[in-house]
Amino acid sequence: MTTRGAASPGPSAKSIVVVGSLNMDLVLRVSRAPAAGETLMGRQFSVVPGGKGANQAVACARLGAPVTLIGSLGADAFGAQLRQAMAGDGIDTTHVVTDDRSATGVAMIQVDDDGQNRIVVVSGANATLEPIHVDAASAAIDRAALMILQLEVPLATVEHAVDRAVRAGLPVLLNPAPVLALPDRLWPKIDYLIPNESEASALAGIPVTDPSSAMEAAWILRSRGVRHVLVTLGRQGVVIVGPDDARHLAARSVQAVDTTAAGDTFIGGVAVGLREGMTLWEAADLGQRAAALCVTRHGAQPAIPFRAEL
Ligand code: ADP
Repeated sequence: MTTRGAASPGPSAKSIVVVGSLNMDLVLRVSRAPAAGETLMGRQFSVVPGGKGANQAVACARLGAPVTLIGSLGADAFGAQLRQAMAGDGIDTTHVVTDDRSATGVAMIQVDDDGQNRIVVVSGANATLEPIHVDAASAAIDRAALMILQLEVPLATVEHAVDRAVRAGLPVLLNPAPVLALPDRLWPKIDYLIPNESEASALAGIPVTDPSSAMEAAWILRSRGVRHVLVTLGRQGVVIVGPDDARHLAARSVQAVDTTAAGDTFIGGVAVGLREGMTLWEAADLGQRAAALCVTRHGAQPAIPFRAEL
């Protein structure tokens, strides 16, 4: 794997800007889901930093890029813990604002003995991230190599940030999660769209279950103006369709124990690879190597690997 570009002073100074959510994940291990009105004794409780924005920022940082995160936390203990966790991974949190009126976003995650997840997310402060918060980070955006976004913060803010990235000449990488209808004007501004199979299926309007249906969905999404579409398929790898080429890259064969944050880790790897001047195929391979290691470990952020481990 080449890392050309990584040593040259220009690109290596440029950061990845992530605009997105920070949540505290409250994870409850239970034998089974409780019925309405029932009280069930759980097995274990843990509190872990999460949120797609934060996870992708951590993946970029651990895989070797300077990262600036734009997001919003509440003025509470979870907010302080999340800020500290991000800083601990070397992420620039100058543009993570504290909103006095909101609670920090939380995800209540029940994991049962069959490995099924039941998740309730309360957006809290993530829902109050506004275009002005993006504008406050203008200088960082102008110095960046790439912008990554997801859809856990308001769509108006996502659109504003994308416009700001386009004006600064940055490639835009969008992970359309959780999936929602995107305005027509947004599609042509996206350089890299990275949905998983259910998001690709919802956006393209066809079932996506394997590489050939993912390829078909990617062509449909490209026809709306996106330059490159990367559909992740879990253990089936990833399908990549760009202006000149379409390919399926198989996933590494590993013993998966927990696939939480696999997509976030893959996205971090792609972004880091592109920032270092790799081709899209090389960057996707870096993403898949990192994601394969992630799925062999438990949890979200604790499972995201460092570059030296690959
Ligand atoms: P998401 O977490 O967003 O649903 P996926 O499950 O599609 O994303 O996984 C993203 C990437 O992680 C895949 O493209 C693949 O490279 C890797 N991955 C996920 N599950 C496995 C697995 N069981 N074995 C090997 N790699 C995996």
